[in-house]
Amino acid sequence: MSRLVFINGKMVPRQEAGVSVFDHGFLYGDGVFEGIRAYNGRIFRLKEHIRRLYQSAHHIMLEMPYDEETMARNVVETVRANHLKDAYIRVVVSRGVGDLGLDPRKCKECSVVIIADSIVLYPDELYEQGLKVISVPTRRNAVDALDPQIKSLNYLNNILVKIEANQAGVMEAIMLNRDGYVTEGSGDNLFIVRRGNLITPPSYLGILEGITRNAVIELARKEGLTVLEAPFTRHDLYIAEECFLTGTAAEIIPVIEVDMRRIGTGRPGPITRRLMESFRELARSEGTPVY
Ligand code: PLP
Repeated sequence: MSRLVFINGKMVPRQEAGVSVFDHGFLYGDGVFEGIRAYNGRIFRLKEHIRRLYQSAHHIMLEMPYDEETMARNVVETVRANHLKDAYIRVVVSRGVGDLGLDPRKCKECSVVIIADSIVLYPDELYEQGLKVISVPTRRNAVDALDPQIKSLNYLNNILVKIEANQAGVMEAIMLNRDGYVTEGSGDNLFIVRRGNLITPPSYLGILEGITRNAVIELARKEGLTVLEAPFTRHDLYIAEECFLTGTAAEIIPVIEVDMRRIGTGRPGPITRRLMESFRELARSEGTPVY
């Protein structure tokens, strides 16, 4: 069965789904996006994702064609039209069709695209064994240049890091900011465990404030753990008792080695395992119903 893609209010068969080459999303990466998951017919933290999409759009002064509730309804409709229960949903809002110059004022109407599909980021065994990662020379975009809190269509910073990871033969890599503080992976946030407490970099260092990250902070606090949003260096990462990454696609994945330094025992730790379990439970029990 052919999948349907939402494009500017219409459901279009996947093979026919396209946007203009004059769209500034294509020409300049001028636009914003979201990656959202549906589990068992429910969309996880839909409101939060749509909120972040609108906040990203607000920052780049991209005028949305309708309100957040309508956008959320369109997401639900797209999943329903594709008869999906478990899905990875991509919402893309680009500046729209303009001329070959940069000026966004030439783009009269933005383009809204919603794709509901599936995604597998890491093989199952890596959730059991944990990931080996590296830190890379490419620095995270500076907050005063292109703030990583904008989930923009310009992901070259992240793609350069992915290339460095690929070349080193690892599946994910960690970026530092220009002051040498740990920020995040190419597509996920990072947590460490130190003296039994969770620490994750604050957003002002240059991270995308992940919806999964925030759900994990909530969960951990509910379970009685102390969570700090505080800057730390590679040294803190190397001597951490545990480390894990969080993201919509990855959920929670343990990290057992950074730059060839073993983290903790070299096996996914007890706090990571506990949070993985409670996150899975949470993701499969709450959310906006599709059907
Ligand atoms: N950091 C970056 C750069 C990302 O692209 C993502 C994925 O969206 C995340 C972190 C994790 O955010 P979330 O948990 O909202 O998916």
